Order: sequence, then C-alpha cells, then structure tokens
Amino acid sequence: MKNKKLNKKIPVGILGATGMVGQKFVELLIDHPWFEIVALMASEKSVGKKYKEAVKMWQGSEPMPFHVADIKVRECKPNFDCKIVFSALDAGPAEEFEEKFARAGYSVVSNARIHRMDSNVPLLVPEINPDHLELIKAQPYKGSIVTNPNCSTIGLVIALKPLLDNFGIEKVNVVTLQALSGAGYPGVASLDIVDNVIPFISGEEDKVENEPQKIFGSYVNKKIKYNDISISAQCNRVGVRHGHLECVNLKLKQRVREKDIIQAWRRFSSEPQKLDLPLASKHPIYYFEDDCLPQPKYQRDIDKGMAVSIGRLQRKHIFDYKFVVLSHNLIRGAAGGAILNAELMAEKGYL
Ligand code: NAP
Repeated sequence: MKNKKLNKKIPVGILGATGMVGQKFVELLIDHPWFEIVALMASEKSVGKKYKEAVKMWQGSEPMPFHVADIKVRECKPNFDCKIVFSALDAGPAEEFEEKFARAGYSVVSNARIHRMDSNVPLLVPEINPDHLELIKAQPYKGSIVTNPNCSTIGLVIALKPLLDNFGIEKVNVVTLQALSGAGYPGVASLDIVDNVIPFISGEEDKVENEPQKIFGSYVNKKIKYNDISISAQCNRVGVRHGHLECVNLKLKQRVREKDIIQAWRRFSSEPQKLDLPLASKHPIYYFEDDCLPQPKYQRDIDKGMAVSIGRLQRKHIFDYKFVVLSHNLIRGAAGGAILNAELMAEKGYL
C-alpha cells in the first residue's frame, strides 16, 4: 500500500468520538490518506445530536472540520458499513461494546485498558512488537481487537527498546508527571490542580509496571512469552495541558558508555519507518543535549506528536543511568498510536 493515496479510502468509525481522545482521532483522521470517517459514536446523551452540538468544548488547534460538524452522533451499535472502529471509550462502555463490534466483523483498535492484557489481544507498539499482530488469528471474533498501551507506558517502552536490544535491562524505576488531558474531559477540577501536584492516578502505576513485560514479550508458539524486566512506577498528575514527562532510573545488564546509549537512541528506527506508514514519525526518538530539555510545552508536538523526546542522560551510582522522557499523551499515547496500529494492520493485510 506504501503511503500512496488509495482509490477508495477505508471507512472508519470512532467510538467515544466526543471526548478528549475521540476529538484527537477526528483531527488526525480528517485528511488521512487511507482512512475516511463514516461514523461518530458516543453515549446516549450525545446520540442524535450533530457532532458540533454533542462536543462540549472542541479541543482542536484548528476549527472543527465542517464536514464532520454536521454528522449525527450514533449509538454504539455495529449496524453500519465500515471496516475499522477506533475506540476512545472509557473502560466501562469499552467492556460493553468493543467485543460486540469485533464479533460483528469490525477491526476494533482500542485505547481502553479493558482488553490490553487478554492473552489473544496484541498490546501493540508498531516500533516494538509488530509480530504480536499474529495473535489476532487466535481470536474468537469475525473481526478483531487490537489495543494501545497506557499513555505513560508508551513513552517509557519506546525509550527502553533500543537499550533492551543493545545492552539488556535489569530494572527500571520511573516517576511520571502526567498532563491534565490524560484524565479526559472535563478532567480534574481546577481547584484540585492549580498550585498543586496530585501524587495518585487510579490504576496507573500497575499499568506502567505490567504492560511493558507483554509489549517486550516474544511471540512463540502462538503465545506471548512475557519479558522479565522489573519496573517500579510512581504516577503524579500535574498542571500541564498535554504531554507526559517521565523521570527514569535504570540498571543495565552490562557496563555501557553514555555515548553508546545516545547513539542507540538516535539510530533506532523500526517497522513504521521502514514501511513509511502515513503517521509514522521520521525518527521514533529525539535526544536533546540541552540540560533544560525535553519540556512538554516545547517538545510534545515534535514529528507530528508521534516521536518520543529524551534528555538529561546521567550516569549515577545507585542505578547505572537516569534520564527524562516526554511523549504526547493524546497523540503518541492514544489516537495517533491507534491510527499507526491500524496503518500497520492495513499494510500487513490484517484487516
Ligand atoms: P473522555 O474525554 O471522558 O471521553 C469519553 C468518551 O466516551 C466520550 O465520547 C463519551 O461520550 C463516551 N462515553 C462515555 N460513556 C459512554 C457510554 N456509556 N456509552 C457510549 N459512550 C460513552 O475520555 P478520554 O480521555 O477521551 O479517554 C477515552 C479512553 O482512552 C479511556 O479508556 C482512556 O483511559 C483512554 N486513554 C486516554 C488517554 C488520554 O490522554 N486522555 C490516553 C490513552 C488512553 P459523551 O460525550 O456522550 O459522554
């Protein structure tokens, strides 16, 4: 398919189209060369309204595209003609609806946590584990379910992947500073977050500690054999609009020079770059030498918001190294990551 414009675009729907992630899907899909939005779905209170009326506050940097503004929001029922359904539903409705769509023959590409750790569902990061897509063949559906990792997991695993491959990793300690848009709309009350940091995000630390083992796992005998990497995470909500920053300490399996680590990050390139997928970043990782970088405000949108920014690599005595990672939670960590998953599925014939 190779990044060329298709004669006929693949029709896609969006579940949870009115929320933070749903709106980002709309923004990213509006001029997509392969996919075309044909259905927008949300909760009962939005059903029947025009999209522009159902969305409480349009979050896009450009005005709402006029040809989606008047689309009537539908209920989450698999009763329309379309191939891929992107899910930006909360966990509750995701549990209710995603399997119904997969059973009815749709390819469900989800951001919700509910199926991430199912043994026959890929927890996909195209730069890391494209071979895990094979799991789809063991699914009991006419269609399929493919998931994205948690929005903090994604930045961490992309930063770790070249180090894991080149040097081996023993253990990781990570402290996250997570943006407000990660909590959905309207999210955290202003009086709770202005002049404050909240040292708790429900369920988040477990996800960051456990999802990487599956993502880094190997596909053997039609199953994922989990990697044994050991991770400890502490997750905090901070008053930043978009972009999760993570402070990482890690112990490697061998002694390595600082310049070898930076070179491994800078040289890292993978399947989406090789296939030239439309939403693939040119480089998955950017390393910054400046002591003050990366910062959410300045680096989150780098390379379409799909790249991970890293800086502040230092050798230390408790762990071997520490560094800082930044990724855009709504793009790389949610809608953009899911679209890249669907692009890989289209290119590799999994639709
Ligand atoms: P959100 O802003 O709260 O949006 C939730 C969406 O789900 C809305 O479109 C809402 O529709 C719809 N919805 C709620 N209850 C429903 C129901 N019973 N039936 C049908 N639709 C229903 O949340 P979000 O931040 O976009 O997150 C969406 C999903 O992505 C969650 O699973 C979240 O964990 C995951 N995620 C989020 C991020 C992030 O950075 N925000 C990153 C990665 C993953 P109405 O407008 O009609 O209520």
